[in-house]
Amino acid sequence: MIIDGKKEAEIIRSKIKKEISDLKSKTKKTPSLTVILIGDYAPSKIYVKNKEKSALEVGINSEIIKYPKSVSEKEILRKIDELNKDEKVSGILVQLPLPSQISKEKIINAINPLKDVDGFNPINVGNLSSGYKSIIPCTPLGCLLLIKKVEKNLSGKHAVIIGRSNLNGKPMAQLLLKENCTVTIVHSKTKNLQQECLKADILVAAVGVPNLVKKDWVKDNAIVIDVGINKVGEKIVGDVNFDELKNKTKAITPVPGGVGPMTIACLLKNTLECFKDHQL
Ligand code: NAP
Repeated sequence: MIIDGKKEAEIIRSKIKKEISDLKSKTKKTPSLTVILIGDYAPSKIYVKNKEKSALEVGINSEIIKYPKSVSEKEILRKIDELNKDEKVSGILVQLPLPSQISKEKIINAINPLKDVDGFNPINVGNLSSGYKSIIPCTPLGCLLLIKKVEKNLSGKHAVIIGRSNLNGKPMAQLLLKENCTVTIVHSKTKNLQQECLKADILVAAVGVPNLVKKDWVKDNAIVIDVGINKVGEKIVGDVNFDELKNKTKAITPVPGGVGPMTIACLLKNTLECFKDHQL
């Protein structure tokens, strides 16, 4: 089975659109997402444009605040403080990566956890790892929703996650642990990566190395989720060798068209949750 992330994302977006429309007619209020974009990094500009377009399509007000690459950390912190206090703003997102004069840690810490639609603030990270209600980072949330489309009950499954970033690997591990999986995280210092991957009933690759996961790294009938987005020449490929694996797995996500569309759909979902939690 090839998991159609585009289709799943479309289903989520249309549910969100309907819910926002109902809430608007009841409350006359509209969720809103503010994105801070610093500098001219081309992929960031594309991501932010896509986020804005998708937000507007489901009825979320969207604002992009742009700064030149040379902007000071103090100025961004001042703007975040203003947005934290602005009652009209449901969600705040600062597009990463940041220029070197700005501390990612300070920026992430400055965002009000209730408006932290990326789920990166340590309060949300802590709540997630404690098993409490939290805002969940968009990409791992999207991955979990795709996995659960294939298999509702994940209890007792062995999940192997390649990558331990705060953005993907670590929150993915927390989510799968919460689903009662036995979780292994592997990374660049892991010995016998292939042997570890072969244990997986569910394999999530969030690495950034094109086609790292080969046919003989995955046992038959595993669920394989490919988070990677890698440019090879003019082509975008994942961390998994899709052609080698597609006939061997129980289910696999393609790249593009797998996890990517779910990330944006989950950002909209998080924005709506923030709106419902602190603005209604
Ligand atoms: P990251 O912060 O660079 O983390 C990569 C992780 O992979 C690290 O933990 C690293 O180990 C590990 N790693 C690197 N090379 C490895 C190797 N040869 N063997 C085993 N582990 C290795 O990356 P990220 O932000 O998590 O992103 C990962 C990928 O997902 C990228 O391709 C990115 O573009 C993509 N992405 C996709 C979406 C989406 O919506 N689909 C969203 C975000 C990111 P160490 O910790 O030991 O260095």
